[in-house]
Amino acid sequence: MQQNLFVYNTLSRKKEKFEPLNAPHVGMYVCGPTVYSDVHLGNCRTYISFDLIFRYLTHIGYKVRYVRNITDAGHLEGDADQGEDKISKKAKLSQLEPMEIVQKYTVGFREVMQVFNTLPPSIEPTATGHIIEQIELIKVMLDRGFAYEVDGSVYFDVEKYNSSHDYGALNGRNLEDLLNNTRVLGGQDDKKGKLDFALWIKAKPEHLQHWPSPWSIGFPGWHLECSAMSHKYLGDQFDIHGGGIDLVPTHHTNEIAQNIACCDKNPARYWIHTNMLTVNGQKMSKSLGNSFLPHELFTGQHSILDRGYSPMTVRFFILQAHYRSTLDFGNEAMEASDKGFKRLMNAVTLLDGLKASATTDVDLAPLQQKCYEAMNDDFNSPVLIAELFEATRIINSVHDGKMKIDAANLEVLKNIIQTFVFDVLGLKNEQAANDDLPKVMELVVNLRNEAKQNRDYATSDKIRNGLQQIGFQLKDSKEGTNWSKI
Ligand SMILES: [Zn+2]
Repeated sequence: MQQNLFVYNTLSRKKEKFEPLNAPHVGMYVCGPTVYSDVHLGNCRTYISFDLIFRYLTHIGYKVRYVRNITDAGHLEGDADQGEDKISKKAKLSQLEPMEIVQKYTVGFREVMQVFNTLPPSIEPTATGHIIEQIELIKVMLDRGFAYEVDGSVYFDVEKYNSSHDYGALNGRNLEDLLNNTRVLGGQDDKKGKLDFALWIKAKPEHLQHWPSPWSIGFPGWHLECSAMSHKYLGDQFDIHGGGIDLVPTHHTNEIAQNIACCDKNPARYWIHTNMLTVNGQKMSKSLGNSFLPHELFTGQHSILDRGYSPMTVRFFILQAHYRSTLDFGNEAMEASDKGFKRLMNAVTLLDGLKASATTDVDLAPLQQKCYEAMNDDFNSPVLIAELFEATRIINSVHDGKMKIDAANLEVLKNIIQTFVFDVLGLKNEQAANDDLPKVMELVVNLRNEAKQNRDYATSDKIRNGLQQIGFQLKDSKEGTNWSKI
């Protein structure tokens, strides 16, 4: 925790020194997926970026409580309370219970997150599991005059709130600006002001998910769940609130208003937002035909893809861009990442076999320092990866006999790779990822030793030489036979 970490705060629009409220504890809330369809790659980028942040904070010694919710009710098609509920709509189309839809896509989301090697959050609460907490927050907002009820629905009074607070602070816009840029959506609700948003929505008879409340049988507005769940698990104020950049103008702006209306505090000190993923320079969208799912990217089964790429190549590709830059997906860019990732992993494999010399041509301490500096500069993973390619160059040179390294520096080099490649970037060596390999090798080694004991040297030599050819070396000693990768 001796690190001088700086993070870009959307709220202040500048990089600020990271100072947690209750170090070594850090509270981090990230808006999770709405589980009505397969998770798309843009969302994966967001969660991989926050996984990087979670991993780094943990590595430098913080005890992070990472809360990422599952939105399983209340998210309408339009962010401004218009359109049908996404989960109810999908349930009707599929002739399934809404909770069957929720279950299916929650399981699918977790599977994809695991494939990308993202660590699970500390708490993964659901909106439907926190209806009581949401109702309680609405009561407080009504009591304090920031909300009003019309015919069983409850709305947040944005103009009233803005008279004493800055509603557009996160977005950097003033209320007049926002009012002038908001479309009037005629005749579908009873809001007093154009920017007012729903806290509780009275359910129409055909609406599938509904709960009793003091105002009507209905369901909570989408923005409320995150205020309720972050407040419940992280308190009045916590350290980091994150999500995709598209959440800034409405969802996060409204969350801040709700929390301040209830507790007089902006819920988070640092607001962190990840940028968009584009495809060949265009926004990913179904209508443009350039939208594909993670598994289509792995298999290459989509018209826009030349071939498939492994999950770790995709993770590496995502981390090669800074989380606040737009990331443009294209076949050429993926090919370049694939080559880079393989180069890095080949070096990682060679590292195990490097031998220390009595003297050294390299001093690894400055490189280690640069890796920390990159991450301390707003989690700058592309700069970190560039430093790791310098480590790759050193590994290759030592392996080729062009450079010498002593034991102390070899130890630092191993530490850099373990810390930054695996612990922080969360990459896995897919070539060596076969967990069954030790068991298979034990079996082969036993077969070879049995042949040797039976004086069947033709077979024992065949096994030993065959293993040598595919890169495995056997070493016999009094204790038995050891194997290693050459
Ligand atoms: Zn949220």
